[in-house]
Amino acid sequence: MKVTRIAYSARLNPGKYAALVEQARRLGRVRSEVWQRYGSILGVGSGLRDRQVRDRWLADGTHVRFGVLANAWKETVRDAMADIGANLEAAKVDVRRAISRRTNDPAERQRMYTALKADQWASDPFLARQMRKHWKRGRNRTHDQIVVRADNYNTAADGRGRLWLAVPGLEPRKMVRIPLSTTVAPAGTLRLILRRGRVEVHYQIDASAMRSSQRPCGEATVGVDKGYTEALTDSDGQPHGEQLGELLTSESDRLKERNRRRAKLRSIANDAAARGDHAKAQRIKANNLGTVKRERQAARHRARVRTEIFTAVHEVVDKAATVIAEDLTKRFTGRKKLPKNINRRLAAWTKGVTAEALKSVSERRGSAHVPVNAAYTSQTCHQCGDFGRRSGDRFHCTRCGVVWQADMNAAINILHRAGDPDIALHTPHKRVKQILQDRTDRHRTRLPVQDSSPATAGRRANHPNHSTMNNE
Ligand SMILES: [Zn+2]
Repeated sequence: MKVTRIAYSARLNPGKYAALVEQARRLGRVRSEVWQRYGSILGVGSGLRDRQVRDRWLADGTHVRFGVLANAWKETVRDAMADIGANLEAAKVDVRRAISRRTNDPAERQRMYTALKADQWASDPFLARQMRKHWKRGRNRTHDQIVVRADNYNTAADGRGRLWLAVPGLEPRKMVRIPLSTTVAPAGTLRLILRRGRVEVHYQIDASAMRSSQRPCGEATVGVDKGYTEALTDSDGQPHGEQLGELLTSESDRLKERNRRRAKLRSIANDAAARGDHAKAQRIKANNLGTVKRERQAARHRARVRTEIFTAVHEVVDKAATVIAEDLTKRFTGRKKLPKNINRRLAAWTKGVTAEALKSVSERRGSAHVPVNAAYTSQTCHQCGDFGRRSGDRFHCTRCGVVWQADMNAAINILHRAGDPDIALHTPHKRVKQILQDRTDRHRTRLPVQDSSPATAGRRANHPNHSTMNNE
């Protein structure tokens, strides 16, 4: 497994930066061309690989009009084809959900899953219709990146210990030398991203080389509930990532205050411009309404939150061989924009980071990560299964007459979901409610407890049966 590392350029000569921006702009046109031609049902329907695309372009002369070096456009074609592939895979996740809703027949489901995986969906009317529905035609939005293969660049330290990265420019044999603000040389294929006068050098390292990957995982099966105050609460009631709430609240307050100040400054600048004092308006725009400092602060905050969440997940994996969690990837498959409200935006973003951390840490340390359907897990009592009331961090069950710590109660319910015979990952919300309702009604009318009672499900979860859990 690979993890991404980023190196940043140190003080970079504006002429060099402009040349890189121009190269990235031209490569952006290469990307657009690839998306235009191969980014739709028809394009992939023809089953092309990036090598075939390159051969075609070489044959018909498409590549000539971009005005970039051969290695640069070829790597860009490969990268854009990979993006299109990822876009296609994301659509397939939705189609798999649609298949599980359409039929309960395991053989029929398997047939459709297999056809989907092998890209044989065109001949099946249901699959073809679903693919057309979920695979939105994408387009290229990347115009600020340059991909450089490992054998096309070099790094060297100067007399003062500064590291320089030399990458191809627009002219053959003329390298652009970029000073880096790190002493660790990037390796493998590089992705240069040009942002606000700075070059970000993204590259991947093998995760097994990281110290945290050597840490063994625990032995328990643990359910976790994702929160806002703490990153995670586990089914033993232990919180992890307790600084998260404070980090998010202070960031939210800071952003609101900053936006208020900026709005005020903007109106002062507009008033000045209206009076004809363009010098003043310009001064305010340049000195007070820039984006460089804002971006740095945002990056710092993102790094802190990521550390808090990853640390929390590592703590859970310290004791768990199997981590059972809500399927956090669910709403992240589309191209939906994050909400405008600051708190909701931060919450949506941290959810994505938590999903990433659960997946990445599990893979690196060899624990299993089992996503489950978390519908109503925070609204039902883990002991009797009845619906209860949540107020703040307390959960009241009137039937049991007990007050639970709300996050722990949810985490235990999540743990039980892994062995639940009736509630699968994609069981619709309404159906889950019905199942839960039926179970509590059965209790009330004192019918014999059947196999699907929460108590039995709970016992099963302690000995998870891996065949009933799939990682789709
Ligand atoms: Zn109860």
